[in-house]
Amino acid sequence: MAHDLALICDGCSKPITDDAGYLWVDNREVSRTEHAFRKWEAEHTDAIDGSLSFTGGAIFDIPEKVRWQVHHATCDPAPDASSYDIPATKIRSWAELLEWTAHLMEKSWLTHTDWQDILRGVHTSDRRLVTVA
Ligand SMILES: [Zn+2]
Repeated sequence: MAHDLALICDGCSKPITDDAGYLWVDNREVSRTEHAFRKWEAEHTDAIDGSLSFTGGAIFDIPEKVRWQVHHATCDPAPDASSYDIPATKIRSWAELLEWTAHLMEKSWLTHTDWQDILRGVHTSDRRLVTVA
């Protein structure tokens, strides 16, 4: 299969060329953020008509999205963290990226992560998932 994409390690900034690493998100961070978001939502929901209402400033209190991280197993700062992993060997083509995206879209928690930035990053300065020439 063609290799269109490569993961770049957050730790050593080198590409992950074989099965020595992964793209991952911390499950506990995700559930913490999900919880904080529900709380924020509840605090800003109108008790009468159930609509979301908030003033400009409150938008900054929305919990920040959990960042997907990229690491070689040997560079991983939290190897024992409970995590959702995508092995580097399984996300090397556009087709695979599309498949993962479709798969992740079925997860209720995806919205609390920065997967959009991973997708956008392929063509911007985000250096987690890059195109290979
Ligand atoms: Zn590394």
